[in-house]
Amino acid sequence: MDLDLTQEQELIRDTVRTFSRERVAPAAEELDREARFPVELVGEMAELGLMGIPIPERYGGAGADTLAYAIAIEELTRVDSSVAITVAAHTSLGTMPIFLFGSDEQKERWLPDLASGRRLAAFGLTEPDAGSDAGATRTTAELRDGTWVVNGSKMFITNAGTDLTWGVTITARTGEDEISNLVIENGTPGYEVSAPLHKLGWRASDTRALAFTDCAVPEENLLGPRGKGFTQFLEILDGGRISVAAMGVGLAQGAYDLAADYARERTQFGKPIGRFQAIAFQLADMAESPIARLYRDQKILEIGEGTNEVQRMVIARHLGFGQT
Ligand SMILES: Cc1cc2nc3c(=O)[nH]c(=O)nc-3n(C[C@H](O)[C@H](O)[C@H](O)COP(=O)(O)OP(=O)(O)OC[C@H]3O[C@@H](n4cnc5c(N)ncnc54)[C@H](O)[C@@H]3O)c2cc1C
Repeated sequence: MDLDLTQEQELIRDTVRTFSRERVAPAAEELDREARFPVELVGEMAELGLMGIPIPERYGGAGADTLAYAIAIEELTRVDSSVAITVAAHTSLGTMPIFLFGSDEQKERWLPDLASGRRLAAFGLTEPDAGSDAGATRTTAELRDGTWVVNGSKMFITNAGTDLTWGVTITARTGEDEISNLVIENGTPGYEVSAPLHKLGWRASDTRALAFTDCAVPEENLLGPRGKGFTQFLEILDGGRISVAAMGVGLAQGAYDLAADYARERTQFGKPIGRFQAIAFQLADMAESPIARLYRDQKILEIGEGTNEVQRMVIARHLGFGQT
């Protein structure tokens, strides 16, 4: 197996590394403190072609592979998780459903704006009473005279309410035992997005609760075959989990970078503390340093795209154990 990066993967890594260092790092602390969505940085990432890395060029994406995308997410997370999850949620959760399950017409209509980063996309699966048990979706969509009428709510939806947001793909119950995916564009009457939710970590990323009250969308906003929503969102989560894993690697690398820099800079007894074995207490004293943001940001990696327990259930199922 060839583990070397291709020229394209190296180019993407170097581009994102430079962007993260020069543009994200100076802003990250302030964005986190003010819980402010990084709209300018998203614009710059769009210009660099980072908002649609795995989407084919014909739709306005970079046409690169999954590894290149994971490397980009890793490099961004190394510096700031909020910026990284903005890209990851937009790409894996927001854009991928359109690319994977959209009709040719839907792809031509929606992908160019999304893959180029002119607009942002969200994916609405979680509900107040349907988290790990995502199949317990209560949101309903009823087909009336060629229109889906949606009622219900969603919780913790990333990228749903920014100035750049185009819309959200939601799961909805379209029959007794039937879940389907529907696209709902922002601004559709009956679709309301809450104020940004306050969070411990990922504070500069946009997380909202969504409400649908007799929200009418055209019949052609159904994404993929009716009744296939459950299978489709499982496939989307599988892809999203690659981003979350890449974020874990990037966050660990970023935390190490900061700790190593500090251990080199900090001098005691005439030596940088990195030369002493017992630096643990000094590291603990770093809680006012930027590393605190990374510490808060890592918590969600045990939750998003499936909690630790859910990931174990998925792995156990692959091994032939556990519930089916
Ligand atoms: C910042 C943020 C951003 C998010 N972005 C999105 C998004 O863009 N789109 C989206 O759809 N969702 C999003 N989510 C929702 C996220 O996917 C859910 O929070 C996650 O799936 C867990 O659901 P829950 O919070 O309802 O926890 P619950 O499912 O209520 O879980 C609570 C606890 O019970 C445990 N548990 C539950 N069931 C079992 C079981 N069978 N066996 C053992 N333990 C179990 C869990 O592991 C967890 O520890 C986001 C969440 C956050 C916090």
